[in-house]
Order: sequence, then structure tokens, then C-alpha cells
Amino acid sequence: MADEPRSDDPTSSESPSPLDALRREIDGVDRELVDVLARRLALIERVAGAKAASPAPIRDRGREDELIARVEQHARAAGISATLVRKIVEEVIAHGLVRQAAHVSRLPRGGEVVRVAFQGVPWAYSHLAAMAYLGARGLEGEFTGHRTFARAAAALTSSAADLAVLPIENTTAGSINQVYDLLRTEDLHVVGEEVLRVDHCLAAPADVPLSSLRRVLSHPQGLEQCAAFLATLPLAEPVTWFDTAEAMAAVAKAGDGTAAAIGSVAAAEAYGLTVLRRGIADQEQNWTRFIVLATEPVRFDPRVPCKTSLILVTRHEPGALLRCLSLLSNNALQLTKLESRPRPGRPWEYMFFVDIEGNVADERVAAALEVLKSEALYLKLLGSYPVKAEPAAAREARLAEAPTAESATSPAPADVPASVDVPASVDVPAPAIAPTRSGTRSGAYRLVSRDSRPEDTVVRVGDVLVGGAGFTLIAGPCAVESKEQIETAARAVKDAGAHVLRGGVFKPRTSPYAFQGLGFAGLELLAAAGHAAGLPVVTEVLSPEQVRPVARIADLLQVGARNMQNFELLRELGRVDRPVLLKRGPSSTIDEWLAAAEYVLAQGNGQVILCERGIRTFESATRNTLDLSAVPVLAERTHLPVLVDPSHGTGRRALVAPMAWAARAAGAQGLLVEVHPEPERALSDGDQSLSPPEFGRLVRGLSRVPAPAAGETA
Ligand code: PEP
Ligand code: MN
Repeated sequence: MADEPRSDDPTSSESPSPLDALRREIDGVDRELVDVLARRLALIERVAGAKAASPAPIRDRGREDELIARVEQHARAAGISATLVRKIVEEVIAHGLVRQAAHVSRLPRGGEVVRVAFQGVPWAYSHLAAMAYLGARGLEGEFTGHRTFARAAAALTSSAADLAVLPIENTTAGSINQVYDLLRTEDLHVVGEEVLRVDHCLAAPADVPLSSLRRVLSHPQGLEQCAAFLATLPLAEPVTWFDTAEAMAAVAKAGDGTAAAIGSVAAAEAYGLTVLRRGIADQEQNWTRFIVLATEPVRFDPRVPCKTSLILVTRHEPGALLRCLSLLSNNALQLTKLESRPRPGRPWEYMFFVDIEGNVADERVAAALEVLKSEALYLKLLGSYPVKAEPAAAREARLAEAPTAESATSPAPADVPASVDVPASVDVPAPAIAPTRSGTRSGAYRLVSRDSRPEDTVVRVGDVLVGGAGFTLIAGPCAVESKEQIETAARAVKDAGAHVLRGGVFKPRTSPYAFQGLGFAGLELLAAAGHAAGLPVVTEVLSPEQVRPVARIADLLQVGARNMQNFELLRELGRVDRPVLLKRGPSSTIDEWLAAAEYVLAQGNGQVILCERGIRTFESATRNTLDLSAVPVLAERTHLPVLVDPSHGTGRRALVAPMAWAARAAGAQGLLVEVHPEPERALSDGDQSLSPPEFGRLVRGLSRVPAPAAGETA
């Protein structure tokens, strides 16, 4: 017998039941809702156009508050929940702000579509975040998953991608250290952020009972975050996998009824799996924040509420971090995140990742960061970018957890960023900061000037502190020539009392036919010899491209006299967290030299040591004329440490020790001396190189020379 047609059977030919009729009416209302939303967004596009052409603020909180209050009142009058209406309107406002921004957005893009690199396989959470980021901006993306974070970043630097979207922190698991480390080592800029809710589900190839599962695959984080749920499946073995989406893919491929995977619903659906259970994470509120990276910074209109991310290395002084932080707070810059990471190769030293509210395109923020630069030893600006809307659910969760829980209907407290995401990127000229003239002679430098910092700067090279009241001896051959030569030299100078080992591997020779150095192979030899002798090492870099690879190995990077005004080289040195030894150009004035140092400091690297090495004069009895008067002049004009190189300064072995002693008497904070195990066989600068015994005599003689008392030279 045929079944009675069921009343809610859509295929029924009978007249619709009352329930059907109601559902159809609801469908109609939903369509109207969408139409109304579309109208609202179309109006917003027009508002965006009007704002772009006027100085009106992109975000008008006063107007938003009024608007929300009005619709809440309207909701109450209509007898519906004001909370519900408020939530919807807030989401619409946030989305509208993003759409407004799309108008003027200048995110980097290769062509029609934005090429985005992420870590993981398709449908990984990073992929979902990248899609959400572009989608909200009305941009089309071409997404490529990479095996590691480093490879995703490399896709940017090799121009295979326009943006990279990488996770930086998770509300359950904390910070993602590898990504922080990439920000430190690579020349990348943060241009945006995205926040994604991590909502794990359990999925399998077919709708099987949970009791039949024997294996559950996921990323270790996924397994850990669902530990309580997994404990309810005692027969299912947790299996760690490379990432959650790949676990989904693997389960789909195996197609076996006893295996399931933990990951996003989107990934489950993309791999054709059946979702067995949703919302299985122990913590319901699990969010990941992603950063959006590009190879060039994007300047956003100062009207856009932005966040600025920095890397900070504090001075080697007590209370240094506190001073940096007070400086921010005295300038009304709200700190939103402070994360410390160990400084590589510097046990128990830290670098800080700092997020503040504000935009460097805002003059007030730029000026405060300038001051911070002189307070910090190293400051790297990672970027200013629009604050991501805090999703309403995340905000509620946070408020619910806070001791002073606010009810959902009360207005958001002032310190809680309301939902905003306004990536209106507009080209804004860099803020003009009035050049200070005092103490700079030509106004060409101010960060290096004593005016900006009365105390001496102390620069750390390995474990050696250079500057202040210390006296540092840097010694070693002009060039690294062989393993044996550099090892012998390292032992000899260490025994004589040197603190840092020198050795050129890229040699700036006057003639292209002269020995040019052993290159990176020589650098390995130098580092190994220094390590064996317990000495940090210094070597010269000739070009910007050499800076990062050499900085990974050498403790101090030397800029040779011939490169003192190689501005691209100086700028690149300003961007890495490695101290710099800046030699004086043979025909440069002291002010030109200080302005060259300013190039490094202006980029954020305050770890500069100056080295007088003689200038070119009419005098031909010596290779150069060692300008020892520069030492007390520099002590007046700058807080940076000053060393003297009597080897290149005279060019003659016999003159090295007397000038070294004179340098100490003049107030130098150290020396750079060429020492070769067999000077007569040296491949470069043999005439001015000391033998190990000669160097020993020089060092012993120093103890007979009093250094000027503090204040005697300045
Ligand atoms: C050196 O130190 O080996 C060197 C090349 O020095 P300068 O740049 O001072 O000539
Ligand atoms: Mn030399």
C-alpha cells in the first residue's frame, strides 16, 4: 500500500500545510533581509567614495554608538531582543568598514588576483584565514600551501606570492615561535591581521558510529585541544599528523571505516568527509590570530585605527625595558602585546615583540618611535596595519572571563576595541619630523648625537661589552688565509689578551688582481677559530646582499673605510640585529662619518661602534694620517663607542704600538690591530701586521698608559 503523503513532504501535490506556508514566508523574509543588506552595503560603498575625498574620519565611533542605540531602541519598541539586533548591526558595520576600505586598498598584488602563500595543505586553517582576509576585501586570491612557515615566507621574497598569511598566536596554544623568528630574521612587513575561530570537528569517510573508530588523525595541537572528547573514545588511538587538513585528506584517501580526523568543517567538506561530531574542542573559545605579510610596508591612512608591531632590543642597563615601556605610555601609546623571545646565540638575553595601538603614519606615533629608537639598542618596525575586528563572539567570551563581566547588552568598555577592520590603505607621506640642529653641526644626525643621549652607549659583541669605561682589543689578521693561519692567530691574540678576533673574508682591495679573500668558506673558518679560542668574531661586509648571511655567523659586521658612505649597505645594516663597526672614510670629515652612522641608527639599529683608521693627507711618510684628535671630538659629539685602528692608520709595523698607546691616552675605548702569525708571509697588509710577540708587547705597554678620567675628554 502506498504511503500516505506526509504533510511536510515537499513533493506532495496536496495543498501546502500551514507549516509549509510559514516556511515559505520565512524564505521570502530571508530574501528580503539579503536585499536590505545589499542596499546597506551599496550605500556604504558610496559613503567610502565621499570619505576618500574628504578629511572625514574613516571611523566615527560617536555616529556608530548613536546608530546602535537607535536600532536597539527600535528593536525594543518592536518587541524583539535588542542584543540580537545589536549583534547583527555590529557585524554589518564591521563588514561595511572592510568594504569601504576595499575602495582604496593598495594591497600588493601581482595581477588580477592576489597570490597568497600559507603553510599547510589546502583547507588548512591558514588557508581559511587567508580566504577570509581576501574575501572581506572583495579580492580574488590564488592560494598556495607550503610545507613550512619559512617556505611560505620565501615565496614572498622570491616574488612567487604577493602576501603570506601565517599564524602568530592561538588563544589555547599561545605564540607560534617559528613565525616570530621569521619576523626577526627576514625582511618582511606586517600589512594586516586576521582572526579565525578554530572550530574542530570529527570527520570520517562515512557516517559510522563513534565506537567503530580505531584511529583519529590530527595535528598534535588538534589532538591536544580535543583531549577530553578523545578520552570518551578509548578504543581510538590518537595519531599525530602534519596538519589538520592533511589528516582529513589522508582519512578520505584511505576510505577505511575505522579512521577519522580532527580539523575544520570546511576541510571535512572539501575532502568529501562526513562530519560525525562538531564542536569537539575542550575550550569552546579557540581563536587563532594570523598576520598578513608582504615584502614592502603598506602605509595606511592615519584615520584608520591601526596597530603597530615592533621588535625591540633593550640596552644592557638595569631598568632598560621599563624605560622603553614608560616611554610608550608617556606618549599615550597603548601596549596591546608584549612577547619576549630569546636572542639567538645570547643565552639569557631577550628581544621583545611589541604591539601598540597606533599608526606610524600618525606624526605623534612616529615621533614617539623616534624617541624609542634612541632608548632602545635595536628597534625594528614590522608594520602598521588596520586592527582586525574582534568578532562579537570572541569579545563576549573575553568579557565573560573577565572578573568584571559585562552583560552582553551593556556598551563595550572603553578599553575593548570595538569591531573594526578598516584596511583603507592610502599613500600617506612619511611624517616630517623637524630636524634638530643642536649639537649636530649640520643637522645631519641626531640619534648618534650626545644631545639625544648623554650617557655612553655600550654595545655588546658576543659576550664582550664595547664602550663606556671598558677598553676592548680587537685583533687578528687582515684576511683569513687558511684554517691553520686563523687558528694560530686566534690562539695567539687570545693569549695576549684580545677580546674579539678579526679576519677579513671579503677583501676590498685596491687592485682587482690582489687577494680578494676566501668568502663564506673563510667566514666558517673564522667563526670556528673564534669559537675554539672563546672569542667573538668581526669581519667586513662589502654589499647589502652579504649582510644577512654574514650576520647569521659573525658577531660584529665591519664597514670598511671605502664603504663608509655606501648608503644601501648602511641601511641594510640598520635593519639587522647585529652590531656594526663603522670605519672612517679616508677622506671623510667627522660630521660625514657621524651622518653615516646615523643611517644605521635611523633604520633602528643602535649598535654602532666607530673606528678611526687614518685619513688621506699630503703626508706620505705613513700610509694614512691617524687622526687621534677625532677621538676627543667624537667623545663630545656622540655617545657611540670609539675605537682606533693604528695598523691601517700608519701602515707600518713599528708605528702601531706607539699610536695604540696614544689612542688610549686620547680616550679611545679600544683598538683594532692587525696580527698575523707570520707577517712576512701575509697575503695582505703584511707590512703593518704585528707578530704575536709584538702584539703581546703592545698589550703589556697599554697598562702603563692611563686612560683619561671620565669627563676629561668630553
Ligand atoms: C681592514 O680592516 O682590513 C680594512 C680593509 O680596513 P679599512 O677599511 O680601514 O681600510
Ligand atoms: Mn688590512
